[in-house]
Amino acid sequence: MVDYPSVNWWPGNLRPYESRLSFLARFAELNGLSARACFKFLKVTADERTPLRADEIARLSCLLHEASPSIHAVFSHPIRFADCEYYAPSASSDPRHFIRYCEPCSRHGYHSYLHEAGWLSKCPFHMNELKSVWIPMRGGTLPEQRIATLRRVMRKHNGTWPYYGNNDFLARDESRVASLENWVRRASCAAACMARAEIWRSGDGESLGDMSLAQVFGQLRALKATPRRIKSLLAEPGGRWYLESQAFPHSARVELDRLKQLHLSFSRRKSAATTGSHAGSWYARIKRCVAITDVRLMLHSQS
Ligand SMILES: [Zn+2]
Repeated sequence: MVDYPSVNWWPGNLRPYESRLSFLARFAELNGLSARACFKFLKVTADERTPLRADEIARLSCLLHEASPSIHAVFSHPIRFADCEYYAPSASSDPRHFIRYCEPCSRHGYHSYLHEAGWLSKCPFHMNELKSVWIPMRGGTLPEQRIATLRRVMRKHNGTWPYYGNNDFLARDESRVASLENWVRRASCAAACMARAEIWRSGDGESLGDMSLAQVFGQLRALKATPRRIKSLLAEPGGRWYLESQAFPHSARVELDRLKQLHLSFSRRKSAATTGSHAGSWYARIKRCVAITDVRLMLHSQS
């Protein structure tokens, strides 16, 4: 006896770079569910910033008959600044009370998480400016209203949504999206290395708020040059930043590690060096020893 699927979904229905919002909206539509019932049934939230655990991905893979990597890509975006802490653009730059979309993409019934990334100003598949639609708060939660708003946008531009013809338009300029993905990955790795190696940064302990996109992309660009073909995609080209490196002897790191054992942070040592009664000797010692690792890396602004 043939097993009938428990849900209206089929293998390969997930689309490359598709947003979680789009997946949830299509799943809800295909199965006649409200947004709330959809979240409850799938046991997921609409918040793009909460990745799923491996066992949750396996559960959805089994339920939807989709490959685990496809599920993972929807819930943990491949193109993102990962693990680079404050070098990454702040999530607060992503829209929450409006949805950004690309009109040509919406004519294919398609919405990507890249459309919602606040650090991108254009659709990477069509290179046109993104549009925004405000989410009316008519009742229901914000995630429910986001789903309802995307449904309206898609129905307006595509009469067959949530069905679609093909994904050929996504592959029309694959190399540009591949270039974007490659640069984001390399810049993230470089920024993660910087963040791990830091022992002190200016402004530590102060509440400076989020860095501007200009500073974020100025720093990332200084770490890894932005390929020319993706520059115009970025919401901010980045300020004028440059990277300076200086080699220090290994003994400097050994000395800093020794002071760390005494629970003295670098900023406290620096402060003690300049204000303490033994300022002269501290300062001379710190000056000899100041180092981040064997190679000291710093980012400077030219502006
Ligand atoms: Zn587009």
